[in-house]
Amino acid sequence: MARTFPNEVDVVIVGSGPTGAAYARVLSERSPGTRIALFEAGPLLAEPPGVHVKNIDDDGARLEAQRRSEGLRPHTTRAEARTYADPMKRVVRSGTQVLPDGYQQPGEDGLPAAAMSTNVGGMGAHWTGACPRPGESERVAFLPDLEELLDDADRLLGVDRNPFAGAPYSDVVRARLGAEFDPGRAADRTVRPMPLAVHRREDGALVWSGSDIVFGDATRANPDFTLFPEALVRRVIVEDGRAAGVVVEDRAEGGEHEVRARFVVVAADALRTPQVLFASGVRPPALGRYLNDQPQVVFAVRLRDLSPSPVAEQDPRGRSEIVGEGGVSWVPYTDAEPFHGQVMQLDASPIPLVGDDEPEPGTIVGLGWFCAKDLRADDRVEFSDEETDEFGMPKPAVHYVLTNRDRRTIERARAEIKRAASVLGEFIGDEPLELSPGASLHYQGSARMGETDDGTSVCGPTSEVWGVDGLYVAGNCVIPTPIACNPTLTSVALAVRGARAIAERIGARVPASADVA
Ligand code: FAD
Repeated sequence: MARTFPNEVDVVIVGSGPTGAAYARVLSERSPGTRIALFEAGPLLAEPPGVHVKNIDDDGARLEAQRRSEGLRPHTTRAEARTYADPMKRVVRSGTQVLPDGYQQPGEDGLPAAAMSTNVGGMGAHWTGACPRPGESERVAFLPDLEELLDDADRLLGVDRNPFAGAPYSDVVRARLGAEFDPGRAADRTVRPMPLAVHRREDGALVWSGSDIVFGDATRANPDFTLFPEALVRRVIVEDGRAAGVVVEDRAEGGEHEVRARFVVVAADALRTPQVLFASGVRPPALGRYLNDQPQVVFAVRLRDLSPSPVAEQDPRGRSEIVGEGGVSWVPYTDAEPFHGQVMQLDASPIPLVGDDEPEPGTIVGLGWFCAKDLRADDRVEFSDEETDEFGMPKPAVHYVLTNRDRRTIERARAEIKRAASVLGEFIGDEPLELSPGASLHYQGSARMGETDDGTSVCGPTSEVWGVDGLYVAGNCVIPTPIACNPTLTSVALAVRGARAIAERIGARVPASADVA
């Protein structure tokens, strides 16, 4: 049956990742009767919409879902899976697509490993679910309600602060790291379990949060909410300085539709949100600028001096069931030690250990240290007025340089990760590995929030674009600080603020100038 695009709704949301879903959820909860259309360029992978692919039990169905998320050049499960010239540099992950070109300009570092997903749920159908809170100068200083917004983001994402409490040897890992890093730290910045967006079903199976969890029953039961997969928003219609709707291409059945709306939220990831604004003629000076990805170094160790852990011995789940449930620990960012440390105990060694038996689960530990980037306006994604990308949208070109300060930060991160590794056990490999820029998949800042419209930001404190009434942006692109921790919780928190502002304006019929700040 042919689907029908509405002529008019109250709110259009562009993109169905966690931040677009957060707008749908908060509006469904706070603004009943508001007509909402969510347009998503990619396909529906499985029910419920936005489900994390790790929750798809059947291997074949899961691989197919990953492949269908990879845009027009899918690589997963294909013989040509690793056709990229330099796979280490391009780091092609299942469920994502890297930019085919334009990711690096001559003489620059570029973002060779920055990747996107094009599917209902966005990258949130493929993510690891780490949801740490930003701290100290990672936080957005001009948002007094940030803590409460983060609480609500926890609720929307279904975050558990200690999901794998009984993981073998996680107590040992945290005790050793804590003894080394905790002295002198504030109470909220000490070593602890990594909060994860995951919960356990009644039958014990793990459920990873995707946009399905963010949508929640409130959105699914909302008769005034409609999700349109395979619907690519080409541009936002702007009339007299106001958002007035979108032009959307039906990629399933063909044709283009104009959908009028009083509010438009663009939540199309940190490369494609600025793309949609650019295509709409909304081009504030900061658009695409201050792009920043977290430089990342990784290392691995084997835990030393272990006596059989009581937790491991008593673990009622048994070895075979703990795949994917190794302990995940967190060494939080501080201004004095400006790195976000993510420590994952693995079920098995990713590298064959010569002459060894298969190690006991939890004893091989992968460490990742993420750095805050030295922010520069010149680090940017630009778009072409002439050339188009494979979806027919303005073609992106990334300009991106690691500064001398970044190089020094990365060297320091190497030292810090070795410090952490030394207290845990024996190194696997000689030196930490620096990943290619973009590999964190946490690139951010390209439509950043500011307190005032001073030319260094794209939107104000409610995420409404400066000078375009009713147009909101969402996602990691909005984060104004170069945070080192995983960004999704923060992006969802900022989305909650924007969605509440829209709900308030709709409910109270508040004029634009009185928008809550
Ligand atoms: P996305 O989830 O990227 O969704 C954007 C959506 O917009 C996409 O579905 C896209 O198809 C759609 N879109 C784009 N253009 C258009 C258009 N013109 N019209 C219509 N739709 C459009 N983050 C963390 O915080 N913690 C982690 O542990 C973590 N691990 C990760 C692991 C992996 C393997 C990956 C891939 C990502 C990880 N991330 C992690 C990043 C996290 O997934 C993203 O931060 C998050 O998904 C961003 O949400 P979003 O809603 O802003 O955008």
